[in-house]
Amino acid sequence: MLSLKIGNPLERSAMKKIDNYLNGQLLPPASGSYLPVYDPSCGQVYAEVADSNEGDVDRAVEAARAAFPAWASTSLDARAALLLRISELIDRQADGLARAESKDNGKPLWLAREVDIPRASANFRFFAHALTQFAAEAHQHTGFHAINYTLRDPLGVVGCISPWNLPLYLFSWKIAPALAAGNTVVAKPSEVTPMTAFLLAGICREAGLPPGVLNIVQGTGPAVGAAISRHPAIKAISFTGSTRIGAEIARTAAPMFKKLSLEMGGKNPNIIFADCNYEKMLDTTLRSSFANQGQICLCGSRIFVERPLYEQFRQDFVARTKALKVGPPMQEDTQVGAVVSKAHFQKVLSYIELAKAEGGHLLCGGNSLQPAGFEKGWYIQPTIVEGLSPTSRCNQEEIFGPVVSIMPFDTEAEVLEYANGVNYGLSATLWTENLSRAHRMAKAIEAGIVWINTWLLRDLRTPFGGVKHSGVGREGGFEALRFFTEPKNVCIQYEN
Ligand code: NAD
Repeated sequence: MLSLKIGNPLERSAMKKIDNYLNGQLLPPASGSYLPVYDPSCGQVYAEVADSNEGDVDRAVEAARAAFPAWASTSLDARAALLLRISELIDRQADGLARAESKDNGKPLWLAREVDIPRASANFRFFAHALTQFAAEAHQHTGFHAINYTLRDPLGVVGCISPWNLPLYLFSWKIAPALAAGNTVVAKPSEVTPMTAFLLAGICREAGLPPGVLNIVQGTGPAVGAAISRHPAIKAISFTGSTRIGAEIARTAAPMFKKLSLEMGGKNPNIIFADCNYEKMLDTTLRSSFANQGQICLCGSRIFVERPLYEQFRQDFVARTKALKVGPPMQEDTQVGAVVSKAHFQKVLSYIELAKAEGGHLLCGGNSLQPAGFEKGWYIQPTIVEGLSPTSRCNQEEIFGPVVSIMPFDTEAEVLEYANGVNYGLSATLWTENLSRAHRMAKAIEAGIVWINTWLLRDLRTPFGGVKHSGVGREGGFEALRFFTEPKNVCIQYEN
């Protein structure tokens, strides 16, 4: 994605270098070359990240293989204590991590402080506890005097590949269960937002995580991600990112019989019935549309409103959206920050053009924005489109920016057809006070997660993931620990 190399050595020497974390050490990439890392708030390069290659992945895998036997046989209590220590250190460094995340990603600082970093800490804390509660099954034999029990062994070396939208939040969501289950890890954060994974390496060292247990290889998807996917010693790949890359990883890894967990794109419906709790729905819909600049895989980008409520909703939603303050991520009153990269900025703007070409009209937004002093940053006005057909490209393809489409509907059957009429099936949100309808719709919607009268309310014990082109497998709670372990049945016959 980033092909630009940083040329000027003077410029380079002043810049923060983001290196690999291999076998407990921070090391430059074998190639010696680095890629620029941009601050989306001002569009300027502010750091450089290791442009690693297959050789670096090989070194990481070697370190992880060597560390595996000892880590896999560490007592559960000791493993849990280490994960808790990492969580505590994240909490202690929360302010610095939140600032780093906001600078790297363009998200408002308050969002990084309130959501991203606390959640990264919670991921380690949660799996520290979950691993001590993860019990094997036992089955008394149905026909013989025999008993079966199941062992859950770690897989070995596993690969974790994560995206840029919730950098540390999603990176740790994979690493924590992988480590908890007794695996050693080769992980790759997005090259677009590598900073907090780099800072996590320092935290893991400070926490006393043994060398080689976690290895972080920085660099591009085609170089590092692909090398992880095809490495024969890596037994499983846990990936979060786009559907296109998920398919590419599956093409490589599936014939090698690796376990695969793929969390991919979404085009989530937000279905609003006229009997909903209006104020709560409106507040939440504003968030589910534009939080993190619309760059959350769970954002509800297709908003269907029951016709009797449509005009009122349209008017209020547009007014509330126009009032959102778009601005530099570090400013406390900013509600919508910058989108993550120039390429993504251009992609989102091109979808707005496409929406117009497809016959949609813009009720608000539609343009980029240049806050004073941050004119070169990547800001886009929150945009509402009306009049698009449910089958238009803008209603079918993931835009992943501050752009939503609103549409009226008349019947449950009609809206169900629209909701399910896409290739994706990650999440859906329903707004209604009618209990029977809520249950009926929740069952009929093709999605991995359905929120009713709320959005993005997460209990980490619940299964997380999508259906159709949104995902294969589930993360969360014991689902993640099951993914990162191999069950082995032991059958013992005894004399009666
Ligand atoms: P992306 O697919 O471009 O990249 C994701 C990761 O894969 C990055 O680390 C990237 O470097 C790596 N990668 C790229 N090419 C690769 C290759 N050939 N082999 C292996 N790895 C490769 O996604 P993105 O643009 O970083 O993130 C946005 C996407 O992530 C959106 O589609 C969004 O919906 C999705 N997402 C999904 C979830 C979920 O839980 N389902 C959560 C967050 C984001």
